[in-house]
Amino acid sequence: MTRIVLPCLLALFAFAVNARADEGAFFDGAGGGPEMPALKFEAAKAAPAPQAGPTKQSGADLYYFTPAEAKEAAKRFKFRPKSVGWVFDDNVPQNIKDQMLNDLAFMAGIQGNGATPLHSEIFGKVDGAGYKNWFESRVTGIGMNSCGGGKAVACVIPFMDPSKMWLTQNFVKFSHPQVSRMMVVYHEARHTESQNGNWGHATCPTPFLDKDGNEMKSIWTGATLAGEPACDETPMGSYGSSTILLKNISKFCTNCTDKVKMDAGLYADDQFGRIIDEGAKQQMINDLYK
Ligand SMILES: [Zn+2]
Repeated sequence: MTRIVLPCLLALFAFAVNARADEGAFFDGAGGGPEMPALKFEAAKAAPAPQAGPTKQSGADLYYFTPAEAKEAAKRFKFRPKSVGWVFDDNVPQNIKDQMLNDLAFMAGIQGNGATPLHSEIFGKVDGAGYKNWFESRVTGIGMNSCGGGKAVACVIPFMDPSKMWLTQNFVKFSHPQVSRMMVVYHEARHTESQNGNWGHATCPTPFLDKDGNEMKSIWTGATLAGEPACDETPMGSYGSSTILLKNISKFCTNCTDKVKMDAGLYADDQFGRIIDEGAKQQMINDLYK
């Protein structure tokens, strides 16, 4: 049984969140939740309106948030439909800036000779200029955050700023191929879409087994995924769209090395395993695997 993650505990507090990331005290360390500006906790008054707040992170996989948080963020912020570029926060270390710029330049340099229908719908052609524009029309800024600790590489935290992407120190310690790091970055960029509820994750089933009966695990962290909000029920979500992105690079990139194409295929196949709705799965099989 799958379901969208619902908020818990949030009714107990009214969160007054200052949305500016450069104000307030940050804390270090892994686990527990994202680093965020100072939060003012107030005892709940009579029948308070439900407020979005930070979702507890298991640290088992990529960052996640609740539909309530996405809704609250959509009210507070506006999705930017026009490409105006993005900026790094002043505190992003040079090595992380260099890595990100290098990775985005790699994406912007991709050339292709085709695209599947789902890729065309979401990203247009397999084409670097299109990927660059897609990213820049969604992400306004890049800053540093723990993203809930653990092994997270990047995240979007809608209630702080739905068009901002956060990177962690793991971004430069990540032992996965460049194209898979870009898969995470484009996964996160999809989460900036406030007009689509930020494409919140679905909860993976319990048990969650592959076709050989083995426990499904995160390719990023090795953590088991059963019961975690680390799945998608639509090809359009963050896992779905980034699977489609990498599978198309694997199939249609004309200037990628064989290794890049192989890595893209491998990570796409892995992420495809997180699509748990039968209809969505079939749609992606028809689009990507036939
Ligand atoms: Zn996600």
